[in-house]
Amino acid sequence: MDRYAARRDKLRKLIHKARTDALLVTRFVNVTYLTGFTGDDSYLIVHEGGELLVTDPRYTEQLESECPGLALEVRRPGVKMLEGTVKAIERVKPERLGIEAESITVGLRDEIAEKLPKLPLVATKGLVEELRMIKDKQELDEIRRAVWQAEKAFGIIKAMIRPGATERQIANDLEYQMRCDGAKGCSFTPIVGVGPRSALPHGRPTDAKFSDAGFVLIDWGACSGLYMSDLTRVLVTGQPPARLEKIYKIVLEAQEAAIDAIHPGKKCEEIDKVAREVITKAGYGKQFGHGLGHGIGLQIHESPRFSVGMTTVLEPGMTITVEPGIYLPGQLGVRIEDDIVVTKSGCEVLTHLPKRWEDAWV
Ligand code: ZN
Ligand code: ZN
Repeated sequence: MDRYAARRDKLRKLIHKARTDALLVTRFVNVTYLTGFTGDDSYLIVHEGGELLVTDPRYTEQLESECPGLALEVRRPGVKMLEGTVKAIERVKPERLGIEAESITVGLRDEIAEKLPKLPLVATKGLVEELRMIKDKQELDEIRRAVWQAEKAFGIIKAMIRPGATERQIANDLEYQMRCDGAKGCSFTPIVGVGPRSALPHGRPTDAKFSDAGFVLIDWGACSGLYMSDLTRVLVTGQPPARLEKIYKIVLEAQEAAIDAIHPGKKCEEIDKVAREVITKAGYGKQFGHGLGHGIGLQIHESPRFSVGMTTVLEPGMTITVEPGIYLPGQLGVRIEDDIVVTKSGCEVLTHLPKRWEDAWV
């Protein structure tokens, strides 16, 4: 059985547990995960007797090479996605239909309810996402490649940093370098924050120059093809504010303590707590306003998450970021982010860029 068929079989068990006998998969990355099909505009129905992909003629050739043998409902020209999906459901004839509550459009749900009034719709959440949390070897290799692309690009731009360089130029250079090494692109628009702009956890690159301040925060990652990496480093490019070193060392201590604490069987919130305690003890608890980390994979933010209240139990194969931060608005922000995979005995750090305070100096 191929890896996709095995994933669909696991999903069938979850569908059954959700008290339905079929699931309409509308989130495109979930369709990719279950079939290997990398196009979009296609929905998948997984049911007890098999599966059916609703797609259109643009993709037939790609489908033949990416997932030969998959049953298709190819929409004829002029047949809308909504109609094609209803037709496919009629072909499958489920007694109840699970829908992905977090991705189906209201329009599609209404269309199904109107055309098939006797079919009960069962809202489900996170069924495919639950499977996606545990990465297999091939997926890990893809993430490792995305890490390699991101780290190599960073090494190149770090060597090229000049006082006149702007946030925007560095963001563009990172993307260019990652693409040169085969990346499909960035896993998200890089965050490049010079000086006080580093305190904006999601600041967009601007024309601010590196010479405007003595340090910069860079948060970037590559999409190797389908899988993502996500890193953050702070670089000292001139005269940094006096407090930067102290804050940097607290964040690093919190990050290393959290990484050391990662172990299968522990809950996600426990790991978040380890980092939060280090930062709180140092007096900056209120300035660490986000979760410690998030799953990475086909999406840049996915399950599980290291954050307060997350009771997901860690299992080998989960890939998660560890990224504590301290932000002093108008002054400075420090975040250090690495990617880890949970192993049987703890975790493996997938990212390798040095991160001691001494290493931050350009
Ligand atoms: Zn990041
Ligand atoms: Zn992140």
